[in-house]
Amino acid sequence: MRYLSTRGGIAPISFTEAVMMGLATDGGLLLPEKLPTVDAATVAAWRNLSYPELACAVLSLFIDDIPPADLKDLIRRSYATFNHPEVTPLVKQGDCHILELFHGPTLAFKDVALQLLGNLFEYLLKKSGGRMNILGATSGDTGSAAIYGVRGKERINIFILHPYKRVSPVQELQMTTVTDPNVFNIAVRGTFDDGQAIVKQIFNDIPFKEKHQLGAINSINWARIVAQVVYYVYAALKLTGEGRAATADFAVPTGNFGDIFAGFVARHLLPKEIGQLILATNENNLLSRFVLHGDYSVGTVVATSSPSMDIQVASNFERYLYYLNNESPERTRAAMEQFAASGTLQFDPAARARIQADFASKSATEEETVATIRGFHRATGYVLDPHTAVGVHAGQACRRQGVPLVCLSTAHPAKFGEAVKRAIGREPEMPASLANLTGKPTRCQVLDAEIATVKGFVEHHAL
Ligand SMILES: *Cc1c(COP(=O)(O)O)cnc(C)c1O
Repeated sequence: MRYLSTRGGIAPISFTEAVMMGLATDGGLLLPEKLPTVDAATVAAWRNLSYPELACAVLSLFIDDIPPADLKDLIRRSYATFNHPEVTPLVKQGDCHILELFHGPTLAFKDVALQLLGNLFEYLLKKSGGRMNILGATSGDTGSAAIYGVRGKERINIFILHPYKRVSPVQELQMTTVTDPNVFNIAVRGTFDDGQAIVKQIFNDIPFKEKHQLGAINSINWARIVAQVVYYVYAALKLTGEGRAATADFAVPTGNFGDIFAGFVARHLLPKEIGQLILATNENNLLSRFVLHGDYSVGTVVATSSPSMDIQVASNFERYLYYLNNESPERTRAAMEQFAASGTLQFDPAARARIQADFASKSATEEETVATIRGFHRATGYVLDPHTAVGVHAGQACRRQGVPLVCLSTAHPAKFGEAVKRAIGREPEMPASLANLTGKPTRCQVLDAEIATVKGFVEHHAL
């Protein structure tokens, strides 16, 4: 399997090269030359596999330059850190099947991708004799998933900036209690935007970037998408087949279009078993406006109780745009340039019809999110986190008679206790892995929000 750029500016590369490249060097996103499909016999054989076995089978369709035994070992180690034997269990609650993606070390779904990505980086760097210094800014959540993805790994150091005293106590503890020598937490005296601006400026210093082999953690690495394809396949195979439903629908709380794009790839594999993909957004409803009205226009970000979906430019959108443009890199590049210049893209009725054949969509207001947590808890006793509730809200609005509905649950409710308390009058139960963080030793460097200060710190501690 070779990989190319949505903007057509690179010669085809291998999976390994795609993982190490991250963002394509022409500014586009990397995609397989051809999306794989599978035959009915393969689907039948997949039904009996455990999660790690299925992950091996699915990932092998996309990866042909890692020996199978090595890939198997990478996958085994990546999902051994999950605290559930099924890795992503599917639980029936009321009229929904909740696909719990939060059993990883940071209790949020980004672990599914970042546990694998951390192991892949280490494995590939060992092979090439390279090293990597990962630098990123977080408003709270992605940072800890990235830190847990690479803690203790050889040939990798990670520097994560978070806004000093402006992340929740749980988020702060999740990051700062990781005291492995390759992990550097930096609390910046400023806002998240200050931290992000500093990171951007450091990446723009190309000689510095090259000298220290700086790497990014963001949702555009192709390895993250393939890791996420697996749980769609896993859930769809559980609900369909002999004596069960023909197809299952999926409600997906989305911000950067990453998770829902993984669903799009999964449906290419299982066009029968995976039915409707329901794209759910919070009040930052850019992607819902795109699906429902063909309007992709940047607005201003509003803060909601589902902060991991508070985005206005969806970093994986270009991948879908490429398919909407019939795999034309020229048209995709032109559209992205137009979007960069004007902040808007408009789609005609023919394109809208195609988009709506690919996705259903619904957004949730803050009131609707809280009402969904409350209503679902009353009906089932099950506590949804606010991101999951956005998905359940959309799923219930778009559900089809007689078709099982899978709602992706992207975070454990205890990570967003305040919003849950507003809905059901009490904090959700704290899982032991979070409760045990209090009192553990921590390591964190507080720095002024100055580029020279942060750069100096990275320079000093870089591998
Ligand atoms: C990142 C995240 C999302 C959104 O995922 P995308 O890949 O950006 O669509 C949803 N919920 C939680 C808890 C997240 O951390």
